Parts: sequence; structure tokens; C-alpha cells
Amino acid sequence: DYDKIRQQDKAHFLHPWQVFDVFREEGALPIVEGSGNHIVDADGKRYFDAVGGLWCNNIGLGRVEMAEAIAQQALQLSYANPFVDMTNAPAAELAAKLAELAPGSINHVFFSCGGSTSVDTAFRLIHYYQNCRGKHDKKHIISRINAYHGSTYAAMSIGGKPGDHPPEFDFIKDTIHHLSYPNFYRAPAGMDEQQFVDHLVQEFEDKIAELGGADKVAAFFAEPVMGAGGVIVAPEGYLKRMHQICKDNDILYVSDEVVTAFGRLGHWFASKERFDIQPDIIISAKGLTSGYQPLGATLFSDEIFAVLDAEGSDRCFAHGFTYSGHPVACAAALKNIEIMEREQLLGNVKEIGPYFEQQLKTLEDLPIVGQVRGINFMQCVEYVADKETKALFPEALDIGKRVSNHADARGLITRAIVHLNVMSPALTMTRKDVDFIVSTLRESIEATMADLRAEGL
Ligand code: PLP
Repeated sequence: DYDKIRQQDKAHFLHPWQVFDVFREEGALPIVEGSGNHIVDADGKRYFDAVGGLWCNNIGLGRVEMAEAIAQQALQLSYANPFVDMTNAPAAELAAKLAELAPGSINHVFFSCGGSTSVDTAFRLIHYYQNCRGKHDKKHIISRINAYHGSTYAAMSIGGKPGDHPPEFDFIKDTIHHLSYPNFYRAPAGMDEQQFVDHLVQEFEDKIAELGGADKVAAFFAEPVMGAGGVIVAPEGYLKRMHQICKDNDILYVSDEVVTAFGRLGHWFASKERFDIQPDIIISAKGLTSGYQPLGATLFSDEIFAVLDAEGSDRCFAHGFTYSGHPVACAAALKNIEIMEREQLLGNVKEIGPYFEQQLKTLEDLPIVGQVRGINFMQCVEYVADKETKALFPEALDIGKRVSNHADARGLITRAIVHLNVMSPALTMTRKDVDFIVSTLRESIEATMADLRAEGL
């Protein structure tokens, strides 16, 4: 089976972010089974998946209860038209549940198929909202370099990873703008944390002025902790001050919690519970169903809804998907949340998270580990060629991939992003799992260092 799957895959499946030369050479690892934090390949080799799929496997793979809830809903009502003249019970119940879990006046939800479509929904909702208020010129969107917000046209334009903006694609450039990202490890030399935050806040204010003032700026997008951009935890005060600028300037604050919600940082939603900011819009996906079904949610405030729903309004928010509020996906989300509540998985993250963080930090004694960073079950190791200067290895050396290849061979999956390895395991992770991850990573980094020496690098 192993070879057959690989052959069919190579011939016909174009993967996300496929690097053609590498893929032609190496192909993909066929995975056939999963349970909890473990996956099994077609040769029967078992791995601890420290990435949780793609930051989404929050309750663990292969839960019978989830399969039953999905099957039961599929038998009872496998699909329902989401247009306004019909609804279905799982979508209505999930919307109410999300309103209960989301902070403050965030009581409304638009369902879509994943994170990207939820970001695109937010983009259109924001422009629609500003127009309903008569603010036709309040159109500009501000985001950050190295942000990742998805892969649809608007979401990718709002994102700011330089590698995701190659010249062969067009992006929305007239209304989307990027600020620096809050990576203190790579802050300009000589700045302390406070000066760095002042500098970033000033940059935001300058950008608003440059765009013609607050009447021209519609919204600011930010992940509470940047994920694919390198697990960037902003310095103390940054998020609050950026949020305050939004409030002072009537700019909507959009918190992209596709990764950080549903327990990854130990909270339902990290914006308010962890960082004490009240967004106007929250984007969620991934952990919302723990990947058992594709589902995304754009959550928004009573204040936004009141503008859309103004008395005497015969306007229509002309936006939607065939699968908005899909009953099977919503049933999966409800069961997923029920399991998290019953098993107190957020409590496990709060208990095991600091141990994970502290044990991973011990890797900083290795000569090529520049920094270990993250919060609770969202962590990353950054490799450097020189600890003093923080100089990176040449990109072509693919240092993260070299380490993750050694880890794969030892039964541990981590995600390599150029000079990083990122981790976001299922929330059921134990201390023993942490010890396995950290000791395996140490061996894999040491093996990589030995390779580099052997290659004279
Ligand atoms: N936003 C963030 C912060 C993400 O990390 C991702 C995916 O990794 C997305 C949006 C896009 O989500 P999806 O891949 O479900 O479209």
C-alpha cells in the first residue's frame, strides 16, 4: 500500500505549498491511521505528531464519540440549505454556544469552510459595515509582515509572509498595508522591550496618518501570537496599545484566533482571556472542530450587528457559501467543545504548558538553538548559525527540515519552517509526551550538528 499511495499521490495530488523539485525527489509520507497524538504510516511506523496535524488536532485523533456524532448527524440531516429562509439545529446551537464562549459583546457568527474563508468573510463584512455607516472611504486594512491569515485571495493579501507574496501572483495592494512584526528577538540593536513597543506603536500611528487619517482606515488584523510567521509572542503591552489605537481611531480590531483559540494557549479565546483585549471581530477555525470536519467562524460584536441590522434597512450582506453552517461540521464542533469541557482540556494545557515551555527551553544550551519561544501548547525552536550575532543559516541549507528529518526517523513529527521547528500538539499531551519530544529533539539537533560538521559547514 505504501508504494501505491505514494505513486497515486505523486501523479495526481498537488499539495499545498508543494516545492516541485523536492516533491519529485522525496514524495510524501502516506499516513493511514491516527489516535490521540499518534499517527501511523502505511508501513506501520508510529509517530508522535507534535504539530497536531496542522495546528488543529486539539482533542486528539480517532475519537469514537466524534465519529458517532458525525455519523448520527449525517444520517439525520446530512446537509441543509443555509439561506436565510432555513436553518438547522446544530448550526443554531453552535452559534449560541460560540456567543457564550466568546468575550464581551461578540454574539454573532458567520460560518464558512475554514480559516481563509473566515478571513475573507471578515474583509467583506468590514467593508460592508463601514459602507452601511456611510464611511465609504474607510477602506484601508492594516496588518503585519510575517502574519499568516490564509490562502484565499484577500486572506493571502492580508497575510505578510514575504515568501507567500511571490511576483507571479497579484495581491490586493491598494487597500492592504503591512507594519513591522513584533519579534523582539530580532528587534533593532540597542532597543529594550519598551522602546521596541513604542517604535511599533509609532509606526502604526504614522501609517494611519500616511493613509489620510482614521477616516480612511477600516480595520487592523493580528494573530494574538503569530503562528506560521514563527510563533512570535509580542512584548508586554504591544497588543493592548495597538488595540487602544484602534479604539481611539474607530478602527475595527480583528483578532485572528484560528490557531490560538479552543485551548491551544489554555483559553477558549486568547484575546481577552490571556491578553486582556476585546476585539470587534474574532476569526476561528482549526481547533473549533479539532480538524474532524472543515469549519470556520467569523465572530463579531453586537455593535457591528446593530449597524447591519438597523431598523428600516432593506440592505443585504451579499456573501455566503453553500456550506455555511453545515450541519455535520457544526455537530462535530459541538461534540468537540463538549469533550474539551468534560475532560477539562484547557486545564491540562495550563498545567502541562509551562512544563513543555520550560523543558523545551533547556535546548537553548545547544550551539545552534538561538531561541525557544511560545506560550503553552504553541511553541517553536529557532536555529541560528551564530548565537552572538543571531545570524541565520543560509536558507538553502533548510536547517529546520534537516532537524525534522532526523526527528521523523526517531518517530517525532515537527513542522519545519525554514530555520524553525514549530509544535502544537493535541491538548491531551502528558509530561511523558513532553519528555519524549524534548529528548528526541535534542538528539535530532545533535545529529544535524554532526551532519553539518561532516559536510564542513
Ligand atoms: N489564520 C491563521 C492564523 C492560520 O494559521 C491559518 C492556517 O494556518 C489560517 C488563517 C487559514 O486557515 P485555513 O488553512 O483553514 O484556510
